[in-house]
Formats: sequence, C-alpha cells, structure tokens
Amino acid sequence: MEPLLAAIEGADHRQVGGVALDVVRAGNGRVKRAVYPPGFRWSTHMKPIVGTPHCMHAHLGFLAQGHIGGEYADGCGFEYRAPRVLVIEPGHDAWVVGSQAAVVIEFDAEGETARRFGIPETHRHG
Ligand SMILES: [Zn+2]
Repeated sequence: MEPLLAAIEGADHRQVGGVALDVVRAGNGRVKRAVYPPGFRWSTHMKPIVGTPHCMHAHLGFLAQGHIGGEYADGCGFEYRAPRVLVIEPGHDAWVVGSQAAVVIEFDAEGETARRFGIPETHRHG
C-alpha cells in the first residue's frame, strides 16, 4: 500500500461516519490523517453523529489527494484540489467531489484549533 494510505505507527485509528481517521499527539496539538471516501458528505454522514447543523471544527492542513467542495452556512462556497493547503472556518458543510478519496493531513489543537491558528471562530464577513 502506498505510504499516503498505509497504517501510521503510533496512531489512534478509528472510523467515524465512513471517514478513516488516524490521530497522533504531537507537541501540544495533534496531527491527523483523514481519508474521506468518494460520496462522503458531512451533512449526510457526520451531521447525524455530531448533532450540529454544520461542522463546527476549524480545519487547517494539506489536501494530499482528491477534490473537496464545501459551503458555509451563508452560502459562500469553497473548493480545494490536491495538492493544496486548506483552511476551512467553523460553520460549514463539505463533500468529496469525484471518484477519488480525499486525503487531508490536518493539524489541530482539539477545541482550541481556531484560536491557536488565528482562524475566525465562525465564517462571517466584515
Ligand atoms: Zn460567507
């Protein structure tokens, strides 16, 4: 298996809503690999598990493979195609575009991610 998808030594591995997550503590934060399968959509597959109207996580990382589309609560859209660094503000839906899994290497600080990386606490204008 290619390294991008192979097992990661020392990672906590789990599946949530069809997403394969590998999480490793690093410094005072975490490095995560998330593999979103083709057809994945946050509002369809994660919203029932999470229970919030939108994904309220801030995402900062590197899209190593695939194509992601998304929309904030106010209708603003975003799109990322690998290879691309991504920053997604809390308050969004997102989905995989096309037939290839999307692989994101993310850096987070659990509940502190937005503050730690200077990302707005929610998507807004002005
Ligand atoms: Zn907007």
